[in-house]
Amino acid sequence: MSYETVRETDEAVADALEAERDRQNDTLAMIASENHVSEAVLEAQSSELTNKYAEGYPGGRYYGGCEHADEIENLAIERAKELWGADHVNVQPHSGTQANMGVYLAMLEPGDKILSLELNHGGHLSHGHPANFTGQTYEVEQYQVDEETGYIDYDGLEAAAEEFDPDIIVSGYSAYPRDVEWERIQAAADAADAYHLADIAHITGLVAAGVHSSPVGVADFVTGSTHKTVRAGRGGIIMCDEEYADDIDSSVFPGAQGGPLMHNIAGKAVGFGEALQPEFEEYAQQVVDNATALGDRLEEHGFSLVSGGTDNHLVLVDLRDSHPDTTGKAAEEALEEVGIVLNANTVPGETRSAFDPSGIRIGTPALTTRGFDEDAITEVADLIARVVDEPDDETVKDDVSERVDELTDEFSLYE
Ligand SMILES: *Cc1c(COP(=O)(O)O)cnc(C)c1O
Repeated sequence: MSYETVRETDEAVADALEAERDRQNDTLAMIASENHVSEAVLEAQSSELTNKYAEGYPGGRYYGGCEHADEIENLAIERAKELWGADHVNVQPHSGTQANMGVYLAMLEPGDKILSLELNHGGHLSHGHPANFTGQTYEVEQYQVDEETGYIDYDGLEAAAEEFDPDIIVSGYSAYPRDVEWERIQAAADAADAYHLADIAHITGLVAAGVHSSPVGVADFVTGSTHKTVRAGRGGIIMCDEEYADDIDSSVFPGAQGGPLMHNIAGKAVGFGEALQPEFEEYAQQVVDNATALGDRLEEHGFSLVSGGTDNHLVLVDLRDSHPDTTGKAAEEALEEVGIVLNANTVPGETRSAFDPSGIRIGTPALTTRGFDEDAITEVADLIARVVDEPDDETVKDDVSERVDELTDEFSLYE
């Protein structure tokens, strides 16, 4: 995008916006939760709908002048239903966390019990962390991944469900490279007379494309983000059976939010429309193929992957054995210097801190959007290995940096 109009009134913000556009163009985004939306989604998100109040839902708003807002929200809803095969969809949550809040507020009372995966093992703040409202409002017990295999410890989850007697079990994760046994978790929830919330924030697009198993129609509630693997712009979404529709809708508005961000809902409608095209399935399959190729090559370079590989869009690297002198943060910083942007991450059995953990999380959704295939991603794995093997070697970093420049030119992004 060009920021000429912003520049006329605001040099400082225009400078920063252009710098951010250039940063995205000139670096390789490998943060597993990031992606690049189309110019169409960008345009819809910056539409005049940012001016519009539309509290309520299509056909039942608290403000006049909502006919176009209604049309757009209905399109977003209908497209989402088709994409995920959901009975009922709410597209108003401002973010994935707000989507989860919508479910908790609808189904739980303060003091009720949440059973969720530990943050250090791949969970999310909004699943009961003490720094989040969930940890402050509800009683939380956590399950783990098996530190040997890196897979969810389903037996442990079942035992915890029996013992802790939760009101809701949360599945769906932020740093988990494997498929999830949704049915098994639903069965554990049923046995404990608890709800099951499957938070597919990371894999929303993979599930829509059918390249990842789906919890829709299995779990009582499914929440997602719309900016990670489905390229529909920043936001959240809730899916559920018709029987919970009214509870969910009223907990999102007026329970947790005021006016919906109608410009973002326009972005969601456009992005969902794109995801309904046949090319999206190819994209999603390529995301997974790329993550597999990335993981394979990193293993050839001696890196060890949590769970030994991946079924989805990300790999989680545990640096402790292969690079005992390089922490996740040091690797993240050295890679950022050469234009490869990813994040340090805790690993199962973490022995360091969340600020300077032992692993790095690497995702392929954004590079796949730029057109990277297995060959290109394999070369990126080589570049990552070179830098992490020698994080203080300036010659290596200059060399890799140059190659990153060439790759970002070859796989261009925004004009
Ligand atoms: C990313 C993520 C979310 C959504 O986060 P927001 O930043 O609030 O949109 C929710 N749950 C999980 C598991 C996530 O990884």
